[in-house]
Amino acid sequence: YRHGEASEIVVNTPEGDVVFGEHKPLVVVAGPCSVENEEMILETAKCVKASGARFLRGGAYKPRTSPYAFQGHGESALELLAAASKASGLGIITEVMDSADLDIVAEVTDVIQVGSRNMQNFSLLKKLGAQEKPVLLKRGMAATIEDWLMAAEYILASGNSNVILCERGIRTFDRQYTRNTLDLSAIPVLRNLTHLPIMIDPSHGTGWSSYVPSMAKAAIAAGCDSLMIEVHPNPPKALSDGSQSLTPEAFDGLMKELLVVSKVM
Ligand code: PEP
Ligand code: MN
Repeated sequence: YRHGEASEIVVNTPEGDVVFGEHKPLVVVAGPCSVENEEMILETAKCVKASGARFLRGGAYKPRTSPYAFQGHGESALELLAAASKASGLGIITEVMDSADLDIVAEVTDVIQVGSRNMQNFSLLKKLGAQEKPVLLKRGMAATIEDWLMAAEYILASGNSNVILCERGIRTFDRQYTRNTLDLSAIPVLRNLTHLPIMIDPSHGTGWSSYVPSMAKAAIAAGCDSLMIEVHPNPPKALSDGSQSLTPEAFDGLMKELLVVSKVM
């Protein structure tokens, strides 16, 4: 079980430090699944900032199930994220899939995301431990809590103590109605076991935008420190994960509800 105080992870963003931690206000991360083009990422950044998000998320390298699906725009998407951060003042969170891209990803992002499919890529985790940017470690889709905490330990043991854990749903037997089963019990369980901050991703956790608000509020009630929510200016036209993406208007409505149930940073 956990010994000592909850960790506070301080992330420098263009508009000052944002702190993730048990005793800190809720930090909301929002943005599209993929960075598709300049216009959509700038527009999304502007909207989610106005609604109260502190970080813009968006994939440049996408770990798609099919090799024929859109794979992300790579380096040019990283440049668009940098531009969106500059224009909006939001911090950036984006995924690194391959350690060969680590340097260029670390150059633009404020927090480096490790996706579900790479949670046990131990050589990548060791490299992330040997650099300074905070790491967002998503739970593997079939990972136990123990697997997940040990994956985090690889980063910590390699020298980087700034790790945020993100529950994004585990494999479900009911693919008909939800994409994954969002394990909200992970929140109190992790609280017992670790000092690390806890983020919940109800977008990948459910797969459907209409379920995101309920699960976001449930996650707050269960004590999460942060939320990651997919937002797209035109979800039906999204190149990835449109079905689970909120419109900017729906996101704004949700943020107003979250303000009632939580202190949002
Ligand atoms: C994502 O955040 O866009 C993503 C691919 O998530 P996950 O690794 O949880 O599937
Ligand atoms: Mn996605």
